[in-house]
Amino acid sequence: MKIVAIHEATLPIGSAMRNASIAFDQMTASALVIRTDQTIGGEALVGLAFDSIGRYGKGGLLRERFIPRLLAAAPSDLLDEHGHIDPARCVAVLMRGEKQGGHGERPGAVGLLDAALWDLRAKQMGLPLWQCLRHSVGPNASSSTTAPVTATANETARVHTTAEATSAPPPIATYASCGHFTDNPNPQALRDEVAQCLAWGYTTVKIKLSGRDAKLDAQRIASALSAGFPASHLAVDLNGQWQAGDTDVLAVLAEHRLAWVEEPTPALDYAALAAFCQGHSGPVATGENLFSSDDATNLLRYGGMRPHQDRLQMDISLSYGVGEYRSMMDRAESLGWSRQAFWPHAGHLFAAHVVAAWGLGSHESAPDASRLYGGFWDGVPV
Ligand code: MG
Repeated sequence: MKIVAIHEATLPIGSAMRNASIAFDQMTASALVIRTDQTIGGEALVGLAFDSIGRYGKGGLLRERFIPRLLAAAPSDLLDEHGHIDPARCVAVLMRGEKQGGHGERPGAVGLLDAALWDLRAKQMGLPLWQCLRHSVGPNASSSTTAPVTATANETARVHTTAEATSAPPPIATYASCGHFTDNPNPQALRDEVAQCLAWGYTTVKIKLSGRDAKLDAQRIASALSAGFPASHLAVDLNGQWQAGDTDVLAVLAEHRLAWVEEPTPALDYAALAAFCQGHSGPVATGENLFSSDDATNLLRYGGMRPHQDRLQMDISLSYGVGEYRSMMDRAESLGWSRQAFWPHAGHLFAAHVVAAWGLGSHESAPDASRLYGGFWDGVPV
């Protein structure tokens, strides 16, 4: 199999929502297709991917550097011993000539290609993505995969697998992420949004807080809870806005036994996060703005987080993809964390497959299926 073309498009996602840190009205995202010289069942074999939203499109990096590097590689450098595309080998090619550290926007460009390569691999193997991930790098990798059938000249082989290949997808835990700031100041609007999530079947809901205005945040928590569910199922996201020493906000957060407080402090300020954890005894979740195993390791070393109760939200597609994410998991497990503590950020359906593949803690869901990128696949009940 040979990759013959890769196309990227940077698209506006134009959403009126805001959190305490940014607005999404000017946000863009990259869509990607990898084209091959193969067909499956008469259809062109392509790999598709879409950005994890919130960090803008990666068109410049992809077109100037990473796509040409992949296209210039020898096909044999990109495939495994069965002739399937091998995302880990591809990422090694993508990272040729890249210095360590200073990760910046680069991990998102590589992660987007990694997602499309996994899509390609799953299609080659004739498996749902979650099963492909489990077979390829999961705890029981390769043990139940038979040898691939021989490919004809222009038809990629599908791997015929043992019983697991036809088993039902596993249930995964999920929660609804909503309650962004909008131009509608009516507290009833927040209550209605939370109530809608409960009506859709979600039992845990996350809303945005300011992180700085204790009175406003107390109002928002009260509005959300007025939808009629326990505080232990309400999470709040501060988007990095809590300031060390602000005991008013800490007092509001301590009034209820909240499900968790998310990203209380700036992503790379581990001392500030440690101070927050000192001041807040309930569960804390963070990591969505750390894009490398280096940074995740520093979070675990210096962020004051507690393996028995806190959650790690690194974003797979913004962090070089599956291989780097596995590296983060391995490091965390060596430091006493369970994979149940991994709750990938963003509601990306690629992340849902990873959660299903490896039995991670939960999947963040953008709950409104009528909106672009909201909900799950057709026919998946919440
Ligand atoms: Mg968040």
